[in-house]
Amino acid sequence: MRDFSQDHRWLSINTATVRKQRGEDWPLLDILDACATRGIRAVSPWRDQVAAAGLQATAQRLKSHGLELSGYCRGGMFTYTDAASRQAVRDDNKRALDEACTLNAPCLVLVVGGLPGALAGKAAHRDIAGARAQVSEGIAALLDDARERRMPLAIEPLHPMYAADRACINTLEQALDVCDTLDPARSGALGVAVDLYHVWWDPKLHAQIERAGKERLLAFHVCDWLTPTTHLLEDRGMMGDGVIDIRRIRAAVEMQGFAGYSEVEIFSQGNWWQRDGGETLDICIERHCRCV
Ligand code: ZN
Repeated sequence: MRDFSQDHRWLSINTATVRKQRGEDWPLLDILDACATRGIRAVSPWRDQVAAAGLQATAQRLKSHGLELSGYCRGGMFTYTDAASRQAVRDDNKRALDEACTLNAPCLVLVVGGLPGALAGKAAHRDIAGARAQVSEGIAALLDDARERRMPLAIEPLHPMYAADRACINTLEQALDVCDTLDPARSGALGVAVDLYHVWWDPKLHAQIERAGKERLLAFHVCDWLTPTTHLLEDRGMMGDGVIDIRRIRAAVEMQGFAGYSEVEIFSQGNWWQRDGGETLDICIERHCRCV
């Protein structure tokens, strides 16, 4: 297992972690500057942040700082109600792939979607099995586009509390079942993003990490689970402030040969987004050394 205690060379910052400072949007290019100043070597930006900063401007700034990506957030949202929305999803995911290529991402992270319409507050139906079938079909189609571009897809299972509105793939086992069906050769084109916030509780976690193996482990996201958690989406904890046995899970992932970045991804409306962004980054570095 790698020693993270002496430096932060394997730390990546998911830029949602500092998307706001003191409650206001912090522009992506400024975030990249602040990361580079601190010797952070990798980031994982979100599409909306890249769109606001401009794709080419983002690519240039990454290059001028020598910053790598640990992933690109995100594609997915595959579920649909009619042929037009199905095509719109496919087109949008192709654009996400192209952006990921421009930014030299190692993978496009997929949040697969829940019941269509649920995220906007009104689910079109109650058929979660049907939604899951649409997800598999959507990933299968996108996999062809991804292979053409040599951009791997990383399915991120989300905690079951998001099954209705964000992702009906909720365990690593489910995600790997899709991988095995669509990419039985384990070609490297399809794998998973293991985000501790979503999977830490799973009694099958360690067995499924072993099943995933190096070829399927494309991204590793860290934060912590607070008790109590006061918001379903935006109350993630800083590493060390919650109940996740982070080091034990990292050891399991590295045992399989994972040697990529450990990406800090914290959505925190009430705490970390209220602070100065530089302070949040400094604490990410310190906690990454001490608790990851
Ligand atoms: Zn994540």
